Amino acid sequence: MPARILDGQKIRDEIFSELKSEIAKLHAQGIRPGLAAVLVGENPASQIYVKSKIAASEQLAMASWLHTPPANVSTEYMLQLVRDLNADDNVDGILIQLPLPSQIDSKRVLESVDPAKDVDGFHPVNMGRLVSNRPGLVACTPAGCMEMLRRNKIPIEGAHAVVLGRSDIVGKPMALLLLHANATVTICHSKTRDLPNVIRSADILVAAIGRAGFVQPDWIRPGATVVDVGTNKVTDAAEAAQLLRNFPARLEKFRAKGNILIGDVHPDTIQVAGALSPVPGGVGPMTITMLMSNTVKAARLRRASSAAVARS
Ligand code: NAP
Repeated sequence: MPARILDGQKIRDEIFSELKSEIAKLHAQGIRPGLAAVLVGENPASQIYVKSKIAASEQLAMASWLHTPPANVSTEYMLQLVRDLNADDNVDGILIQLPLPSQIDSKRVLESVDPAKDVDGFHPVNMGRLVSNRPGLVACTPAGCMEMLRRNKIPIEGAHAVVLGRSDIVGKPMALLLLHANATVTICHSKTRDLPNVIRSADILVAAIGRAGFVQPDWIRPGATVVDVGTNKVTDAAEAAQLLRNFPARLEKFRAKGNILIGDVHPDTIQVAGALSPVPGGVGPMTITMLMSNTVKAARLRRASSAAVARS
């Protein structure tokens, strides 16, 4: 039996409707949650990401601002921009779209964001809060994966969770969230020995390495839950034909468009896993959703009388 699909679009719709009522309560207090996005230069992929984040803010009747400095700005310019956004009481969330051009000291810029407005959850203060399991703003992609597991009632406590990838923005915070939810967690990376066998012991696998179809179906324990974070644009016809050999409709789409998005997990895994997040339509929509949720949370914590708007 094919895996149950962990549908990110459906959960996004659920969370958006919850957020709308929370935002309405904030509006009643004269507070309009606001997200300021900073997009440096003209990277086409970044432009698409930022556009969808601004569109989501508008859909939720939140305020949004888009700052688009040219590609040659200095670190000093960026630090001043962040200082201005930190000082602006209408701005609840600050999003610095990555990657920044190489002349900019990205770490310094990210660390200059007020932790109370750090809706990406990248600031060391928020990372530290996550390590010690204290409330704070958590990185959107791993927070979205947790929400996806919880809303699909996937048992986490006591489960063996394998996190494939150890980046600061996905793998590490993901492992911490699973640990705090009482999973037994193994973190794998490029130096892990006998990866297939480690993955075979997982009740839950979260794959975030950036390699199209890398995790093979026979590495998955039958019935396991697989959350596929990978978003890889495949443009090679032979690679697409191999990965999509059992998905003629998707292969047709590839032929029409010349590219297709594939996760880090081989698409044939759908025949082995118990539950699987699709790419696209799985973790991607959850990431934007958690950015909106973090912005509303930041507004609530910083500006509202929390008793009046506490989430029921
Ligand atoms: P990253 O910073 O490049 O980190 C990749 C991690 O994967 C590293 O820890 C690396 O190990 C590990 N790795 C690479 N090749 C490996 C291999 N052959 N075997 C085992 N481990 C391997 O990537 P990231 O930013 O975490 O992103 C990972 C993927 O998620 C990408 O496809 C990205 O596009 C996607 N993503 C999607 C969303 C979304 O919203 N859907 C959000 C963020 C990221 P080492 O540490 O040993 O080098």
